[in-house]
Amino acid sequence: MRHILTGTTAAKGMALGRARLVQPSRYLVDTRPLNEDEVDVELARLHRALETARQELRELRGKLHGALAREVNEFIDAHSLLLDDPELLRGLDDLVRIGHYRPGAALKKQRDRIAAVFEAMDDPYLRSRKEDVDQVISRVISALQRQTSREERKLAARVGEILVADTIAPADMAHLAGSGLLGVVASSGSAYSHSAILARSLDLPMLVGVRDALSTIHDDDLILLDAERGEAVVHPTAQDLARYRAWQREAAQEGRRLATLANAPTRTTDGVDIRLLANAEMPADIAMARARGADGVGLYRTEFLFLRQKGLPTEDEQFIAYRDLVLGMGGLPVTIRTLDLGADKADAAGLVLRGEDNPALGVRGVRLSLRYPAVFTTQIRAILRAACYGPVRVLVPMVTQPDELIAVRTLFKLARQELKRENVDLPEKLALGAMIEVPAAAINVRALLEHADFLAIGTNDLAQYVLAADRGNDALDNIYNPLQPALLRLLSYVIAEGRRAKKPVSLCGEIGGDVSFTALLLALGLNEFSMHPSQLLHVRDRVATLDHALLRAHASRILRARTHEEAEALLTQIVG
Ligand code: PEP
Ligand code: MG
Repeated sequence: MRHILTGTTAAKGMALGRARLVQPSRYLVDTRPLNEDEVDVELARLHRALETARQELRELRGKLHGALAREVNEFIDAHSLLLDDPELLRGLDDLVRIGHYRPGAALKKQRDRIAAVFEAMDDPYLRSRKEDVDQVISRVISALQRQTSREERKLAARVGEILVADTIAPADMAHLAGSGLLGVVASSGSAYSHSAILARSLDLPMLVGVRDALSTIHDDDLILLDAERGEAVVHPTAQDLARYRAWQREAAQEGRRLATLANAPTRTTDGVDIRLLANAEMPADIAMARARGADGVGLYRTEFLFLRQKGLPTEDEQFIAYRDLVLGMGGLPVTIRTLDLGADKADAAGLVLRGEDNPALGVRGVRLSLRYPAVFTTQIRAILRAACYGPVRVLVPMVTQPDELIAVRTLFKLARQELKRENVDLPEKLALGAMIEVPAAAINVRALLEHADFLAIGTNDLAQYVLAADRGNDALDNIYNPLQPALLRLLSYVIAEGRRAKKPVSLCGEIGGDVSFTALLLALGLNEFSMHPSQLLHVRDRVATLDHALLRAHASRILRARTHEEAEALLTQIVG
């Protein structure tokens, strides 16, 4: 039966696909004990589900090709081995036969047992295998619960998959991209999480905070994901599908109109030029940035190189990625951010400290890099070598105080000396900039400006730290609001201080690419915006409708707002 689930849009767009449930964090299982006469039937059902899961993995393997196949096959092998693991299977049988557990409850019990063993391991790689167990068990549970009709299955077989999960880690998202994934429905999470950023980057529509997703959607259900409206329509009707087709036509038309702006300047109605830079993570972003007329790359998030593989990327691997980025931008400036691992950016390399009570307030970003000078130096050498191919700036994440910038400069100096001794070509002096995303850095920005050549404001984190509200927690939506007066005043201060010191200031948080904040940021004096390249033309289009002088004249009024609601009302009054 058709039903609609609502959530918050994390990445816009629409998609029609069949549901694929992944990693439910809470298994919805029936814990009532079995009657003796039910045991054989339920055991057979469990074995059928296990066989279905094995069959799915075989089919998945058959569908993959090329480089992606190599990466994903590793997971499939691990999962297949688990599904045939005699201890797991014997344990399940015993739980049903002797313990009278229902199959779902038995799977959950086995999952918890194995997870406890993995969690107790010291080796971070082995510990991370717990996720494989989660995924395998959830695949079998899905097979147990499957309830779709024959007709719907036929239709579903012709479309790709929509991931339905509690949350999805950025690393998982990176792995799933390209494997036919059409969109994501998450029951928790927020639009400012790294997974949401990645979804926008991959052009995958994504909804977060869809409360009942895991209890009401089943594997293979047909879903119309409408991230324009913030809805997931389960078992859509012909009328829903007609709406989807109309959206596809409109999106294509709007795409054609915006494409005409690709080579246009970014200019306000009163003739002020604004610089639009791109946030990039992967080669496709670079191509899109060029195609849409970005003035450069304002944020290249290098951590994605560290998430794509197990172990650390070598100097040469990093050099090639950075060099290709520089060459890809054809002489336009690129800003490479040094490693920002920690907090929710799980690392396959095993660098991030485990067991921190507050990872978001822990050893992340430059704090982590400075703790591992050898790893950091490898990255610095790769950046220096790539910088011979075009203009590069270096951006340091999570800066709190000047000594961190001083330490980074010293490491750059030492790496230069080392490379010189090795007769490697070296670039001219590189500009070194600080991300302003820690409140202390914003408040004490004058001291930082003595050591930084430029600033990039990271509003995603700055907002979470100023407001003490986790950027990934959807329960805090009413607090985590970019229009909070405290945040606006801090932004205005940092921008003004940058101007006073005659140093460039850009903003690379998600609001930089959100057209509903363009007028506000212009009013606060920002003239460099960095955003996902998919947003470039939308923002250019918006800038062309705004009067810069008028907005600047309203800045002090906006900054006097006492609540985010008041700031929003004022903005509406000013720009409609
Ligand atoms: C930010 O914090 O605003 C930012 C751009 O960095 P990230 O989202 O990668 O933490
Ligand atoms: Mg950040």
